Amino acid sequence: MTLSIYDTKSRQVSQVPMTNGVVHMYCCGPTVYRDAHVGNLRTFLLSDLIARTLELGGLKVKLIQNITDVGHMAENLESEDKVLEQAKAESISPFAIARKYEERFHTDLARLNIKPAQGYPRASETMDLIISSICELIEKNAAYIGSDGSVYFDAKSLPTYGAISGNKLDALKPGHRYEYTDDGGKRFHADWALWKTAGNRTEMIWDSPWGPGFPGWHIECTAMSLKYLDKRIDLHVGGIDLRFPHHENERAQSNSIIADEAVGIWVHGEHLLFEGRKMSKSAGNVVLVEDLISRGLDPLALRFVLLENRYRSQMDLTWASLDTAHATLRRMRESMANWGDSTNELEDLEIKQALETDLDTPRAMQRIRIVEKDKNLAPEEKRAIFNYADRVLGLDLTRKIEKAPLPSDLKEILAARDVARKNKDWAQSDSLRKELESRGLVIKDKADSQEWEWS
Ligand code: AMP
Ligand code: ZN
Repeated sequence: MTLSIYDTKSRQVSQVPMTNGVVHMYCCGPTVYRDAHVGNLRTFLLSDLIARTLELGGLKVKLIQNITDVGHMAENLESEDKVLEQAKAESISPFAIARKYEERFHTDLARLNIKPAQGYPRASETMDLIISSICELIEKNAAYIGSDGSVYFDAKSLPTYGAISGNKLDALKPGHRYEYTDDGGKRFHADWALWKTAGNRTEMIWDSPWGPGFPGWHIECTAMSLKYLDKRIDLHVGGIDLRFPHHENERAQSNSIIADEAVGIWVHGEHLLFEGRKMSKSAGNVVLVEDLISRGLDPLALRFVLLENRYRSQMDLTWASLDTAHATLRRMRESMANWGDSTNELEDLEIKQALETDLDTPRAMQRIRIVEKDKNLAPEEKRAIFNYADRVLGLDLTRKIEKAPLPSDLKEILAARDVARKNKDWAQSDSLRKELESRGLVIKDKADSQEWEWS
């Protein structure tokens, strides 16, 4: 057994396939016109957890993630490219925007201990590949040049169109919002653009056999996944919103090019809500890793909370759950330090099975809590199990908690507060607590003692 995971297309949990001993994975990457929010990061974490679980089982993984720096249209504006729109807003060039947010994307991944993929091809640098994929589709009669000079995929050319999402062509109504609003040159309402003529656009356009223009978003993923994963994608990962039309269209394109099923398993992560609502700019509840850091939270507290929820369930993130995770993570690191400093690992079958059974991370997290408290396990064994689990959990459980020594005046205030509490002088105890907090301490009261840490 290695890993079984839910396949959206076959609608069942299936064993992960591999190609020549390596699992070929593709994860749809970010459109680099803004910072990734914690929801996007939940999806990027999903491919990391899959890769780490496969590696825990001794398998090799090759992961490719694209960087969309062109051709992804905004939903709220007529035919405006997201990168171009942001370039105007920040008054810098579109390429400067793309590189800026791409760099920040990598910083966020590193903060969450998401291991880098083997490659991050950029759409803007893969134009020849994209153009040759479109040429192949035209040769195979799966695409045509529309009356407006743009190139479109002929949705009806693939009889199994709709297999992932269940959206069959005869049920798709005209007027459904597709990628572009101005794609009047297509023959059938469910066809989509592979290459758009430049029109009035002067930036981020490329030469092509169909004149200057730019590629559609779906063809980008087809071109890159087929090229960098040798025409065989064992696992394809993305957020649930990409199931349709992005993945449905990608499947139609890729399958038409290779005349076979290009993807083994389609994995979709459910969405993350924040405090009960969909994260959106207009609702003003978009949360970034940067926001966690400004609140003094360890970004790995986010990883912790995400792990406590199954990837296939929608989850609601709150500041309260992040605060709790921050404290628990700290406590676990303290426990680890108390259990010695060995780097030995002890395979824990329950953790391995939980992860390999459709990535049941909540069960793996529950197991480490049990191990932490288990009186029948020796400290070295606990540490070795934590070391093992952390290969997938990626919580830096061995990180040492730095506790700067207390200055002597704070020691005196703590001692005075101890006395006040013993004398049940609550007013004095409260006022001393406020003083300690204003000096950067967090105080936790226990039945007959008080604990402190630096905030
Ligand atoms: P984008 O940069 O908007 O193309 O999104 C990057 C990835 O994040 C895609 O796989 C999306 O499906 C995913 N995604 C977007 N919003 C959320 C959310 N709230 N929760 C989880 N994943 C999301
Ligand atoms: Zn994609």
